[in-house]
Amino acid sequence: MKLEDQLRFLGFKSLPHYLKSKHWRHFKRLYKTSGLRQACAHCGFCQFQLRHLSHERLGAELLTDVLPLCNHCQFRLNQYLKKHPFACLGDTLQILRDLGDVVQPEPESPSGEYMSDEEVKARLLELIAQQKKVAKNSILP
Ligand SMILES: [Zn+2]
Repeated sequence: MKLEDQLRFLGFKSLPHYLKSKHWRHFKRLYKTSGLRQACAHCGFCQFQLRHLSHERLGAELLTDVLPLCNHCQFRLNQYLKKHPFACLGDTLQILRDLGDVVQPEPESPSGEYMSDEEVKARLLELIAQQKKVAKNSILP
């Protein structure tokens, strides 16, 4: 069955609609407490979403039907799938490996600009100075 037909059969308009369902929220909770990897399976980034490796059991997924992926890796995977519509979702990890390593964006400075190395150093020194001040004023023995 095609994905669209499966979704319609389950009463959903689209995959995003399905991903907002009570069932999916419950499944995500189940995954969180499963002891399975809680970081992007490709790059290890701590913020991730669950990505289907198969839509075969949509509505009754097994925990092994999904893979945790960060936004960036999902984006790269989607770009690839656009160009290779017949790629097998089960090969997701191999596809990402073939695409190579991911460089996660640098943390943003308060101004929204990326910080240079010097700015990062200056910020760290500032934080250390603040901490020392706190330690000096501490009421702990
Ligand atoms: Zn990633």
